[in-house]
Amino acid sequence: MDLQLDEDQIQFRQLAREFLDKEVVPHRQQWDRDEQVDLGIIPKLAEIGFFGLSVPEEYGGVGGSLLTYALGMEELGRADSSIRGIVSVSLGLVGKVILAHGSEEQKQEWLVPICNGEKLACFGLTEPGNGSDAANLQAKAVRDGDDYLISGTKIFITNGTWADVALVMARTGDKGPKGVSAFLVPTDLDGFERNTIHGKLGLRGQATAELVLDNVRVPESAMVGEEGAGFRYAMETLDKGRIGIAASCTGLIQACLEESVAYATQREQFGKPIASYQLVQDMIAEMSVDCDAARLLYWRACDLADRGERFSTAASKAKLFASEAAVKASNLAVQVLGGYGYVDEYPVQKLMRDARVMTLYEGTSQIQKLLIGRAETGINAF
Ligand code: FAD
Repeated sequence: MDLQLDEDQIQFRQLAREFLDKEVVPHRQQWDRDEQVDLGIIPKLAEIGFFGLSVPEEYGGVGGSLLTYALGMEELGRADSSIRGIVSVSLGLVGKVILAHGSEEQKQEWLVPICNGEKLACFGLTEPGNGSDAANLQAKAVRDGDDYLISGTKIFITNGTWADVALVMARTGDKGPKGVSAFLVPTDLDGFERNTIHGKLGLRGQATAELVLDNVRVPESAMVGEEGAGFRYAMETLDKGRIGIAASCTGLIQACLEESVAYATQREQFGKPIASYQLVQDMIAEMSVDCDAARLLYWRACDLADRGERFSTAASKAKLFASEAAVKASNLAVQVLGGYGYVDEYPVQKLMRDARVMTLYEGTSQIQKLLIGRAETGINAF
C-alpha cells in the first residue's frame, strides 16, 4: 500500500481543516449547549464539497476515492462529530445507496440535491425492538395498486428531524433479511411523523429522531433497486459507513491529542509544565499511538475498497479499534486537563460525550467482534 496521499487529497484536507477551524470549531460549544447546530453551515459545507465526496460530478459530486471521503470524515470528526453525522448519514449512508442502486430518476431527484447540500437525507433501519438484530425489522410496505403503504417506527435516526427524505427499510416479504426492501420516502408525506429525541449524552447539536410512519403512500418508483435487496444494500452501505466512523474517531482522537498537548505544555504545577511529568506524557503517548493506529486501519480498509477487494472485515476492525480508542483518548484528555477538562470552557468533555456513541452505532463493538470472529473462525456466533 502506498501511504502517500495524492496532491488533490492533500489540498482537500488542508482546505477542509482551514474551513472547519474557521466555521465550525468556534461555534461547536454553543451548538452543543443549545442542542442545535446552525443549519446555515450546510450550504457552506456543500460549497467546500463535503456532501459530494467520492460521487461523480455528473450527479453533483466532486469525485475522489473512498479514501478522499474518509479524509473528509476525519477532518469533520476533529472539528465536530455532530456536523460529521449530518454529512456521513446524508451522503455516506443514503446518497451512496442511491448512487449504487438507485434509478436515474432517483439520482436526479435525490442524489444531486444531497450532493449540492440542498436536501438532507436520513437512514431508517433501527426500530425500537430491533437494533443489532436489524434483519428482524418489523416495518411493513404493503402493495396497494401501483403504490406501497408503509407503516412502522424507526428510532434513533440521525438527521431525522431535518431530513427531506428518509431511506426506509421495510418488509415487503417474509421474515428474515430477504424480505426487506428499501424505499426513498419524502418526509413531508401524510402519515409521516417525526419526534426529536432530546437529552442525549453527546452529539447534542444533532437532530436524532423517532420516525413514525402510518400508512405513508409512495409510488412503486420509490423502491430502491430490487425488491427484497434492501437489507443487503443497508449492510453494504454500513460497511463503508464503518470506515467513515473509524475516520471520524481518528479525527476525534487527533483533537484530544492537540487539546492535551496545548494544555499540558502551558499548565504549570509544582513549578513546571505538567507536560514535563512522565505520567502526563504517558497519557499523551497513548493518544498519539492510538491515533496513528486508527488512521492506518481506516486507510487500509479504504485501500482495499478502492482497489475493489473485499473490505468488510477490515472495516469492522477499523471501526472497533478507532471507536474504542476514541472513548479512551477522550477520557485521557479529560484527565490531562484535570478540573478544567470537566467543564465546557474547554472542548474535551464534549469530545468525551461525543465519543461514547461511536462504540454503539453502525454496529456495536460486540457486533464488530462477532463479525471479525466469524471471519476468523468460519463460525457464526450471532
Ligand atoms: P441492542 O441491539 O439492544 O444492544 C444492546 C447491547 O447488547 C449492546 O451492548 C450490544 O452489543 C449487545 N448485543 C446485542 N446482540 C448481541 C449479540 N448477539 N452478542 C453479544 N452482544 C449483543 N440507526 C439507524 O438506523 N439510523 C441512524 O441514523 C442511527 N443513528 C443513531 C444515532 C444515535 C445517537 C444512536 C444512539 C443510535 C443511532 N442508530 C441509528 C441506532 C444504532 O445503530 C443502534 O442503537 C445500534 O445498532 C444498537 O442497537 P440497540 O440500541 O437496539 O442495542
